[in-house]
Amino acid sequence: MTNSNGVSAFTARTHIAYLSMEIALRPEMHTYSGGLGILAGDTVRSTADLELPIVFVTLVCRQGYLRQEIDPQGKQINHPDPWHPEQWASPLGAKIVVEIGGREVWIRPWLHVQSSPRGYRVPIILLDTDLEENAPEDRRITDQLYGGDEEYRLKQEIVLGIGAVRVLHTLGFDIRTYHLNEGHAALLTVELLRMFRIASGNGHEGPTTYDIARVRDMCNFTTHTPVEAGHDRFEYALARRLLGDLFDVEMLKTFAGVGALNMTRLALSLCGYVNGVAQRHAETTTRMFPGYRVHAVVNGVHTRTWTSPYFAQLFDAHFPGWSHEPEILVRADQLPEDAVWDAHQKSKQDLIGKIRWLSSKQFDPEIPIIAFARRMTGYKRPELLFSEIERLLAIHRERPLQIVMAGKAHPKDGAGQAMIERLHGIIRDLDGKLPIVFLPGYDMALAKVIVGGADIWLNTPLPPLEASGTSGMKAALNGVLNLSVLDGWWVEACINGANGWAIGKDAPGGDGHADALYTLLEREVLPCYYSDRKRWNWMMRQAISKIAFYFNSQRMMRRYATEAYLR
Ligand SMILES: *Cc1c(COP(=O)(O)O)cnc(C)c1O
Repeated sequence: MTNSNGVSAFTARTHIAYLSMEIALRPEMHTYSGGLGILAGDTVRSTADLELPIVFVTLVCRQGYLRQEIDPQGKQINHPDPWHPEQWASPLGAKIVVEIGGREVWIRPWLHVQSSPRGYRVPIILLDTDLEENAPEDRRITDQLYGGDEEYRLKQEIVLGIGAVRVLHTLGFDIRTYHLNEGHAALLTVELLRMFRIASGNGHEGPTTYDIARVRDMCNFTTHTPVEAGHDRFEYALARRLLGDLFDVEMLKTFAGVGALNMTRLALSLCGYVNGVAQRHAETTTRMFPGYRVHAVVNGVHTRTWTSPYFAQLFDAHFPGWSHEPEILVRADQLPEDAVWDAHQKSKQDLIGKIRWLSSKQFDPEIPIIAFARRMTGYKRPELLFSEIERLLAIHRERPLQIVMAGKAHPKDGAGQAMIERLHGIIRDLDGKLPIVFLPGYDMALAKVIVGGADIWLNTPLPPLEASGTSGMKAALNGVLNLSVLDGWWVEACINGANGWAIGKDAPGGDGHADALYTLLEREVLPCYYSDRKRWNWMMRQAISKIAFYFNSQRMMRRYATEAYLR
């Protein structure tokens, strides 16, 4: 819980602001949907550990993202997912106003504080428009994460981008460095341009000039996806209607593209430091947006958050300080074999208990569990494992396996929802032949149990569309072996046959991935599990030591601090 001192404890020392449409702070705060928010949350947690003076800003999202229910036919039913800001945050006295569509919209900030184990406190500001002063329609702007139509989204991005600058200023922060986590907050660059007008043109005095260099010096941008739909684009007519004369639209076009207001392009144009979330993703981004220098800082996960209690105990005993400085886990290959197996089997029992609780199916602790838990959407290919059911069943008859799946589809992603329905069809068809469960409501709490207790972490994106991926890093922390297509972070991490396996060759497109996956299961993965437990255990220790020491958010934040914030 936050204390009531407000933000004054933070303003004097904090000159860096991190803006994100979603931040996964804790399971009870429904201010996130998936990977982007989890990354922002791990960023907050590492910021606290490293005692970095950063203030975070996001939307309060009173109605959350999506509570997933699966009906008896296997259809996803989309419910709102409300939470109670007053339970986890304190309202701050300050209020600011932005004009949207010709109306004044008031914004009130809430303060949530994240503390590190050593007691360092990091402020997170949640923006809220649900105020009596506002028109009923405007009160809902900060309700639903990724909800509504284009107009609703642009209003949210005005609140996040422009509102954040004004709120921070009003609260007494003197922000000198901004970090945009994805393009949603890119309008903040426009607000900064307005603040740093050099000369304003009105008629005979000549055109307005802006201190573009200064804005670029202040702003950093992390882009997160090569998927087209992931880059927000708005028609200028809509932008003009909502933004009014806040900013000259012709001027905006020079930064954000002529055809449409492209938030990624706007951020690229006005941020002096830009990065992709893995080496491969930085290369893809450079091809998509030629002419910009795109650095690569591969994502990481917050080790303490994603380590199962049993592995945490083991690490505490062998590597004191591991959660503060995860580099020490490079020595995890020295852990005693039996202790590793014991910690794993206990984590697996937790998952088996969760499966029984949510589905009343009983999984067997002696049979390997393959997990596929991620957003249900086309490019992640959740059905690849089932492309040849007969072959999968033959593999299972030879050496049994069990499968656990989870993941939400965005309410507007019809194809993703159809996949969930088809997967449930497959699960019904295979009933009694192959144990498979689909656990509803994938969130950070459920993710922690699955990444801790599976044996094999399956990842089958269509390259090059997985920018980074982070769930496989969480799995590796717990000695769970990645079985993944070479894309995103795995290109950098994979030592095939040692810390996991690569499905197929390192090439764009998905040719032959199903066959490669079945062949690996048949000839390497399952034989190793059943007939060479010593090697399996060695691989578990290779996974921890060769992945956890590097793919953590501590390293990621040190790099942002030295290469982006202090440039
Ligand atoms: C880690 C995590 C993600 C992101 O995982 P990917 O590897 O990008 O699929 C998404 N949702 C939840 C709940 C997570 O914990």
